Amino acid sequence: MPKVPFNRPHQTGFEIQNIELAHKLGQLAGDGRFTHSCHEWLESHFGCSKALLTHSCTAALEMCAILADIQPGDEVIMPSYTFVSTANAFVLRGAIPVFVDIRKDTLNLDESLVEEAISSRTKAIVAVHYAGVACEMDALKEICVRHQLLLIEDAAQALMSLYKGKPVGSIGDLAAISFHETKNIISGEGGAIIINNPIFSDRAEIIREKGTNRSQFFRGEIDKYTWVDIGSSYLPGELIAAFLYAQLDEAVRITRDRLNIWNSYHHFFEPYESQGLLRRPIITENCSHNGHLYYLLLENSELRDQFIAALKVIGVKAVFHYVPLHSSPAGIKYAQTSGSLKVTEDLASRLVRLPLWLGLNITSVQDSIRQALDSLDS
Ligand SMILES: *Cc1c(COP(=O)(O)O)cnc(C)c1O
Repeated sequence: MPKVPFNRPHQTGFEIQNIELAHKLGQLAGDGRFTHSCHEWLESHFGCSKALLTHSCTAALEMCAILADIQPGDEVIMPSYTFVSTANAFVLRGAIPVFVDIRKDTLNLDESLVEEAISSRTKAIVAVHYAGVACEMDALKEICVRHQLLLIEDAAQALMSLYKGKPVGSIGDLAAISFHETKNIISGEGGAIIINNPIFSDRAEIIREKGTNRSQFFRGEIDKYTWVDIGSSYLPGELIAAFLYAQLDEAVRITRDRLNIWNSYHHFFEPYESQGLLRRPIITENCSHNGHLYYLLLENSELRDQFIAALKVIGVKAVFHYVPLHSSPAGIKYAQTSGSLKVTEDLASRLVRLPLWLGLNITSVQDSIRQALDSLDS
């Protein structure tokens, strides 16, 4: 165990209390009282047509692919610099992910390259908000409207971030959120689908309930429930929702505390950036972010690897991030690329993520980082 782990899941102290209450209420399957409270919280935050808890962001993305009515051979535009689930959800429905390069500043999909990637088979664009920093949503939305494509947000890392004052996850037709323990607001494993375009609301409930109209039945809207569509079991049990509600209730404080650590890193690295040793994250004017992760870009991959190794010796766990999907075995098999992915390849090879969790002793970590940076032979 490193002295400073990369992540330590934060707990508010109210999780067990909520779980005890859920246990006492005796409804342990999904869609009980705590699930409803979580839905209300999310619907009020996003101002969306409907929000539904899922087992994971992966499950929410799979629901998005079903709702988008993806057929074999359809194409879906997305970055290669993302988590596997962004692509997998659509590949499971027979679609071909089409990878487009990312912007140098935000590491998000480069909106100026998206249009070249559109073909007659294109169905949707997936905007992944890396590090909780928003994609250029106005430009992406405009392209989607002009070409009649769906805009889906992979907002796994972006709960509580804003784009031009609007919650990230509230702009696309659909969005997926993650509550995995590595994210800001957590339930161990967990996620949610955010339905902004109301044409998807009723079908989303059915898909999440194994393709049945069970939710409508329990609301008394119909007198028997039956199999009406494809679907699966995407809803989490009440104990997970009880845990999650304790976290959602403190989302503002958790975000503020993470941003304090993020800002402390950002301030600390300013002189190093001025010396040309590294590049700090860039937050665009349109975005107010949620302090999800702090990364650095070193000059080259050798220095990046040396830096990670030097930190490891001192007991600080730092890690790189995505192996670009287009260079992975499944990416080669199932996906295509549009244009060059040089920015993706370059930045992925030079990026390092630093520990960022509530309770982290930031001064002591910064001392270790200073030591590690001094040891690099550049
Ligand atoms: C974490 C993450 C996911 C997957 O989230 P799960 O809840 O673990 O399924 C998907 N996309 C991105 C960009 C992520 O960071």
